[in-house]
Amino acid sequence: MIDKLLKYQQIDADLKAIETELRQSDEFKKYASAVKFLKTVAESKAQIESKAGALMGAMAALEEKLGKLNEEKAEFAAWDEGADEATLAYLKKKSNELAKQFSALEGEISKLSQDMTELYAQYKKLMTNTKSMLAQQEESKKAYEDLTKSKDDQKKKIKKQLDALAKDISPEIMQKYLEKRKDPKFPIVYELSGRHCSACGTELSQLELANLKAVKIAECENCRRLIFIKE
Ligand SMILES: [Zn+2]
Repeated sequence: MIDKLLKYQQIDADLKAIETELRQSDEFKKYASAVKFLKTVAESKAQIESKAGALMGAMAALEEKLGKLNEEKAEFAAWDEGADEATLAYLKKKSNELAKQFSALEGEISKLSQDMTELYAQYKKLMTNTKSMLAQQEESKKAYEDLTKSKDDQKKKIKKQLDALAKDISPEIMQKYLEKRKDPKFPIVYELSGRHCSACGTELSQLELANLKAVKIAECENCRRLIFIKE
């Protein structure tokens, strides 16, 4: 029965090779990368929008500050007429301070509007990329489907052989094999090499060895591949 299972695995390797070829094809890679990108778009958009909200809030605060400074400036300008020397000196000092504050504020406003321009450029880029990735997704999906279809006959032929072989293998073992077939590791069945699993090299204890002799085929405790002792 183990011979049949090994034969099954040998033919299954051809099927696995086709599956691997499909997974590693440019068509699949392009499709997968488009899907991956498109999944992140909503989050990127939300991040940009939240940044834009914060920038606009900061801008409104600066503009309010600027308005207040302008009011202050107008107030001082009204005092100017007919003031005595001490007042004039005070006004001059105050006016210098105001000029400094204006210049700092203008700098902040200009920096903020630059940030906004950059953010908008980011947003436009995101939209452009999204459009091209949508096109790539559609195109590569179709190409991948065509490629998959082109392998259908070959796969059918192999599956027919496998089905025939499976009839002579116990259903429990077949089920275990097919369960492991879902993950990428292949082959699945290994002969014991002395007392060691030949997949991972782990040495079996006396108890495990005795159990394996009794059940014929078992799972390696370390690598979970199926192991057997050659009769
Ligand atoms: Zn192992």
